[in-house]
Amino acid sequence: MKYENQDDMNLTWGKITAFTENNAKDFSDKKTWNYAWGHDLSSESIAEYANTFRQNLTWDEKLLLERLKTEGIIEEKWEKYIWVANKAALAMFYPTGEKVQLNGRVVDGDKIRSQIKGWLDHELAHWLYFTNPEFKKVTDDIWQSLDPKTRKEISEVLGKNYKNSKFHATEFLSYVLFTEGKSEINTNIIPNSVSDKDAYLKNLRSQIYSTIDAKKNLSPLVKSFFDTNWIRK
Ligand SMILES: [Zn+2]
Repeated sequence: MKYENQDDMNLTWGKITAFTENNAKDFSDKKTWNYAWGHDLSSESIAEYANTFRQNLTWDEKLLLERLKTEGIIEEKWEKYIWVANKAALAMFYPTGEKVQLNGRVVDGDKIRSQIKGWLDHELAHWLYFTNPEFKKVTDDIWQSLDPKTRKEISEVLGKNYKNSKFHATEFLSYVLFTEGKSEINTNIIPNSVSDKDAYLKNLRSQIYSTIDAKKNLSPLVKSFFDTNWIRK
């Protein structure tokens, strides 16, 4: 879906993502709405939001749900929205322009453009996680293969923006492998107490690739997703 600016996108998606990622139920303070470039929204979580707030949906939200119904991303049966398993998830990212509005500020479009590849890969990895059981299993295996202490400390950092821990495995992979912005990776993944952040990240990446390389029967789709990754080259 395309939005003219980040604020329009957040108005429509902010509450849904706050509910999904942070279990929010009260939206009276807009500060609780989630602002981000992309989100962990599967068709399942959108349907869950729609069912929970069915009596209080805004006009924009109703429009959005109609659109998603038309595109076969959710269905409505017996007065309940249901998700369509493995059919679609939403990968959201921001379109480029010469001047881009970001949370009310105008920023340089070229700077944004140079980061688009990383954002796309980051969101595409979420999309695959929600729609492809094999990719989900690989991601979950990678997360479980970390030593418990590391997993716990990264979970604590991720928990600042993603209280719902069911997204920690996919966010971990997306940040460590598919996000190019160093400050984003540092803020969302690496504990403050770590002094050599580059070494910490390098070590995480090599742990990830040793888990992937130990898997011998990956499908071409899943394999290519990791092989085309810029870090590997
Ligand atoms: Zn993400």
